[in-house]
Amino acid sequence: AVQNNPDTTLVTPTAAIANATHGGRAKCLQRLTRLDLPVPRTVALSFDTVHRIAQGQLPDMTALLAQFPDGALLCVRPSSEDPDWGGPGAVLNIGMNDARFETLSKTLGRDAARAIYTRFVQSYAINVARLDPDMFDDVVGEGREGLVASLRAYEAETEEPFPMDPAVQLSGVLQSMARAWEGTSARLLRQAKGAPADAGLGLVVQQMIFGLGNGQSGSGVLQLVDSATGLPQITGRYLSQSQGRDALEGDAAALFLTHDPRGPSLEELAPEAFAELKRHAALMRQRLREEMQVEFALENGSVHILDGVRVARSSRATVRIAVRLADEGIISHEEALMRVPPRTLTELLHRQVDPRAPRDVIGSGIAASPGAATGRIVFSSTEAQASASRGEPCILVRRETSPEDIRGMHAAQAVLTERGGITSHAAVIGRGIGLPCVVGASNMRFNLLKKQIIAKDGRILSDGDIITVDGSRGQVLVGAPDMQEAAQDDAFQRLMEWAYDACDIGIRANADTPADAQTARNFNAQGIGLCRTEHMFFEPGRLTVMREMIFAETGEDRRAVLERLLPMQREDFTQLFRIMEGKPVCIRLFDPPLHEFLPADRAGQRALAEALNLPLSDVTRRIEAMSEYNPMLGLRGVRLGVTVPEIYEMQARAIFEATIDASADGDPVVPEIMIPLVSARREVELIKASVDAVAAAVRVERDSDFNFRLGVMVETPRAALRAAEIAPHCAFLSFGTNDLTQMTYGLSRDDAGRFMSDYVQQGVFPEDPFHSLDTDGVGELLTLGATRGRAAQPGITLSICGEHGGNPESIAFCRDAGFDYVSCSPFRVPVARLAAAQLAI
Ligand code: PEP
Ligand code: MG
Repeated sequence: AVQNNPDTTLVTPTAAIANATHGGRAKCLQRLTRLDLPVPRTVALSFDTVHRIAQGQLPDMTALLAQFPDGALLCVRPSSEDPDWGGPGAVLNIGMNDARFETLSKTLGRDAARAIYTRFVQSYAINVARLDPDMFDDVVGEGREGLVASLRAYEAETEEPFPMDPAVQLSGVLQSMARAWEGTSARLLRQAKGAPADAGLGLVVQQMIFGLGNGQSGSGVLQLVDSATGLPQITGRYLSQSQGRDALEGDAAALFLTHDPRGPSLEELAPEAFAELKRHAALMRQRLREEMQVEFALENGSVHILDGVRVARSSRATVRIAVRLADEGIISHEEALMRVPPRTLTELLHRQVDPRAPRDVIGSGIAASPGAATGRIVFSSTEAQASASRGEPCILVRRETSPEDIRGMHAAQAVLTERGGITSHAAVIGRGIGLPCVVGASNMRFNLLKKQIIAKDGRILSDGDIITVDGSRGQVLVGAPDMQEAAQDDAFQRLMEWAYDACDIGIRANADTPADAQTARNFNAQGIGLCRTEHMFFEPGRLTVMREMIFAETGEDRRAVLERLLPMQREDFTQLFRIMEGKPVCIRLFDPPLHEFLPADRAGQRALAEALNLPLSDVTRRIEAMSEYNPMLGLRGVRLGVTVPEIYEMQARAIFEATIDASADGDPVVPEIMIPLVSARREVELIKASVDAVAAAVRVERDSDFNFRLGVMVETPRAALRAAEIAPHCAFLSFGTNDLTQMTYGLSRDDAGRFMSDYVQQGVFPEDPFHSLDTDGVGELLTLGATRGRAAQPGITLSICGEHGGNPESIAFCRDAGFDYVSCSPFRVPVARLAAAQLAI
């Protein structure tokens, strides 16, 4: 059914053409015509028109053809709203037939005419008649035989003569492209790239520039920057006597635009055309406000601009290009910020497997900490340390990690665990120290006794084998693929400065050690939002003291042992304060259950018995007595603070003494002390009284004054619900969304990895709630706690310090809820800052 359709719009500077109705390519071509660039005549078909074509309602072909000069050949290219959504391949040389072959033979020469005709017959056969592309494999040569054989093959397969009528050809092409877009596989493919279900396709019909025939004819692409580095450099390819994107199709014959050692470059072949192209490209960059790749054709020496597309770019180039455009005043700082997806920075800040490198993936799990590293497999932290001391890079493989593994993790290049989720120990520590990490690799079997990992496909990895852990993708690769180094260049620094200025929510870092704090400072974090003090007790020499403390029979004995830990803690805090130069440091009092510090195996228990001079049976009995069915819901956090008060007293003292020491020779320090796992008001009252008493004692002993802020970590649902009675006792509330998520769902953060992917795949959870904040459920507790807390204590500082603090969507939630800051692992500070800046712009 042929019907009249007004929506075949000639692309002119004033025509009504928009991205949302005709697609990006049509819009871009219109912009190029506005710049007065030599763009061939083009007609744009809207999404509606193309949709109707797919239904069989074609616009008036005669009218459409009449928009072009008599005898012109045409090409059709897709124009979707976002070029990343893809689209059917272009079809060139529509309108070619026996009659035009004769005319073109006279103007362009026989060879060129034959090449054009052959190409069209084959492409029509493949794209419109849907013949198997392989059938043309044997059809060789651009000579007469190639053309005749192609036409014969077409007729034999379709049992019809090849259509000679340009209107029939064009309608066939339009219909096949429109239908290809609406096919199921194309639909799924683009939806995976974020396209909406009803994404439309526009088409552009353009007069062909031949690129074949007399004089300097050919086609190519040109851009003004290098796609990998983002640095200014003219790059591209040009191929004489070619059409479309031939010059890019892996053909070694295509030459560089400048300085090609293999033959004359375009600059040498056609200096004037080259200079003209450069001018056009520079104008496009300036006026389209973007680095563009120019698709061009030369016809007998004259330049034609066929198309312009955004230059493809690496993460590094994404940042450089945005910053350079802003530095040159072409775009604003805000726009530069908006042009860099926050996750791009994650790639920049860590070593990555080179995207071009082949990957031999042997297993996968949860991508728990980004970056990639290669090393030999070791199965214990002791071996990791031994390996590091030999200078041999290693990958620490564990069923799961515990605080005892911290030193092993520091010694390893990456960590791989069989169990765990995004907030399990290995994941949290990995992100904190910038160590690539894959957890919950449940599709591989870990046999720790035999020191082997058995992959799903039966391959076995053994102790000492070289593997690569890709923590950005959650993959385990065999061997050592090529890597790309992290790149915090000057462009990155500038972008971060602009983000800092644009942000309207604070970004702090979770930092446990001086090294973490230094990283946080380097990324310009506005303070430390969470210092997990227990990590300090795993330093060499301290663990034994810690164990002695745990085994002490009386409060007095315990105090005596803690006395020895005091100077070490004081030194830790002094260093943190000094590094942070007066910026706030929030120290969380001791949180984990004590038995995490005790050896789990016989050998360790024997060593402990020796160290403490106790019979082994005493040690094992005590360890058994301390074991709990649900340690994460047991004697930990403030519950320890209330029942074994000596630990918190020692920590408070260490904090205050460090405050005095650090303030004496540096910026004045106002420490923040945070109480973990609170669920009742009385807990806060008790700890507050004890901390106040220590403060008073230190003030007198040291004859020195200082201020501090006491706050509560809201990580049990009850603390959120009862925020109104808790808030009056505190200066701040910080939401610990790791435990809060665990307790709200009743979902173990250390075990959820086992079934999380099933749950997400089946749509039970839209995403892993430990990764992206569950705004409906956990989020409601956050809003509730914030509102009740603020009503009871106006001006109270609100923040989040769970792992969600570095997640862009979760940051949006916190900002909307009016939080003062988010706190995340040091390496995520730049990502969080950029995400926050984008929200504020
Ligand atoms: C939390 O529970 O959200 C938190 C930050 O503390 P941790 O991860 O140490 O339990
Ligand atoms: Mg917690």
